[in-house]
Amino acid sequence: ELTDITGLLLSRIRDVPDHPEPGVVFKDITPLLADPVAFAALTDALAEFAEGVGATKVVGLEARGFILGAPVALRAGLGFVPVRKAGKLPGATLGQAYDLEYGSAEIEVHAEDLTPGDRVLVVDDVLATGGTAEASLRLIRRAGAQVAGLAVLMELGFLGGRAKLEPALAGAPLRSLLTV
Ligand code: AMP
Repeated sequence: ELTDITGLLLSRIRDVPDHPEPGVVFKDITPLLADPVAFAALTDALAEFAEGVGATKVVGLEARGFILGAPVALRAGLGFVPVRKAGKLPGATLGQAYDLEYGSAEIEVHAEDLTPGDRVLVVDDVLATGGTAEASLRLIRRAGAQVAGLAVLMELGFLGGRAKLEPALAGAPLRSLLTV
């Protein structure tokens, strides 16, 4: 696709200073979701990436990774698998804990939704420190599946998430449509 959609996408992301706490500039994607042209362009770009890396499943990270990942999965003809915060999924789960700046968190997946033959593309809206994405990549491998790649709408380059993710990606590509 030759059309440059970065300007369109960037124009539909709203910076909200000091949310949810002082010093954080929150990247609000709700204007993008409300614009069907921008939302479709984003979905098409991520679906093209999913096809390029030979993905068989799309994993979306709660919560905005669900909104972006589900249409990408449909567009690419793939299944969608949610990775949720601990305690939400009703079936037999596999969990992965990870460190936050203060304390820790845990994510879970339904183990039966990922099979050894699967090549998984992980989708989320924003890559910040990379902690959540890193945990999801570990979880996918522990479930026996392969990591096909990680795709995000926006990467906050100054937080160094890309470098942190290098070991967990183990050569799989990280694609961010926008970097700030
Ligand atoms: P991290 O684990 O630090 O990479 O944080 C990633 C998760 O937190 C993603 O699921 C993002 O949706 C969210 N997030 C972190 N920082 C921001 C930000 N500045 N604006 C919007 N979402 C963010």
